[in-house]
Amino acid sequence: MTSAPSGPSESIGDRVLRRCRELGFALAGVAPAQPPVRWSDLCAWLEAGKHGSMDYLRRQADPRADPSAVLPGARTIVMVADQYASRSAGGEGHAPGQHAPADPARSGHGRVARYAWGQDYHRVVKDRLHVLCDELRADHPGELFRAFADTAPVMERDFAAAAGIGWIGKNTLIINPRLGSWLVLGGFLTTMAIEPPPAQGVVPDHCGTCTRCIDACPTGAITPYSVDARRCISYLTIERRSDVDPLLSPGVGDWVFGCDVCQEVCPHNSPRGEGFETGVPRREYSSRTPTLDLSEVLSWTMGDRSRVLGGSAIKRATLAMLKRNAIIAMGNGCRSGERAAVAERLASIARDEGEDVMVRRQAERTLSQWAGEPESPGRGGGGRLS
Ligand code: SF4
Ligand code: SF4
Repeated sequence: MTSAPSGPSESIGDRVLRRCRELGFALAGVAPAQPPVRWSDLCAWLEAGKHGSMDYLRRQADPRADPSAVLPGARTIVMVADQYASRSAGGEGHAPGQHAPADPARSGHGRVARYAWGQDYHRVVKDRLHVLCDELRADHPGELFRAFADTAPVMERDFAAAAGIGWIGKNTLIINPRLGSWLVLGGFLTTMAIEPPPAQGVVPDHCGTCTRCIDACPTGAITPYSVDARRCISYLTIERRSDVDPLLSPGVGDWVFGCDVCQEVCPHNSPRGEGFETGVPRREYSSRTPTLDLSEVLSWTMGDRSRVLGGSAIKRATLAMLKRNAIIAMGNGCRSGERAAVAERLASIARDEGEDVMVRRQAERTLSQWAGEPESPGRGGGGRLS
């Protein structure tokens, strides 16, 4: 491996984890590539239909039951985590049950989940995993490796817990006792037998009696240790390619891509936690604006979307989805006295035969919603057309 020379007593597990640290991963751990313990929970979740329209999850349920379906002969899984925000991004910034207040200076903007503020994490994580896999391949010819970062049917959170990276909280996210939950995961499978270092242990569940994420979720998507994707703003804004249920639209608030509420309220993301380290998030994840200008999004062409979102995870949402999300955010945030101008814009979109049908329908819905309710002072500062 091309790295600092290892000591004579350094095990292969220690070497791999040292290289993970040298490559900039905040956390790393090793686990046996065995069937994941929560696979039956995944099946029950799918059976209940909580995956919504993400049919690929149902199709991939069987491969997720056994890592050797992803890499034949897999014996070990190495899991890594990047930290994309510091603990000061959440915890006690606002009371449970409330949205984090939007910056008034960003009025007319919709919020983006923090993991998508900078470069697409899939690439940022995977590029370094490929470096490590190439080094191991050179040292261990004949062994197989397959890297992933949400790009293979692997129950990443389950294996991250098994590898000692953290525990799975009631909001279903991996939480590390030192760093909190602003983490993105990746890893690789290998046919090599790698023993976990002796110091690595399983992290116990520290949620205790806390229910802050459950109480704060704007759409009531969380039951302990389970999120109903059909109600989750992340699913509604990133994965759902058709209309958003009008009953859920008000809860979406001013989010246009993802949602951070259940992390913002988590006490384990508080900078004031005792004995906790804040950690230094990777700068690749903070290089862009945390919001999108709603009016601009509505004017985007395909080319604009590609230009503005090049290299960003936000490209997961189609142009029509982003426009739908922008209209929902406008509907939720438009201030008294501004509705007339916004309504004119929405009516024009609703009439535009060149516009996507879902976008036109959302414009009509927002106009109908406004027609049936009195003008309000606006919620969360989003949605004003400037
Ligand atoms: S991401 Fe938002 S909507 Fe989804 S479970 Fe968390 S708080 Fe609820
Ligand atoms: S908010 Fe509370 S219950 Fe939810 S994940 Fe954090 S510690 Fe667990």
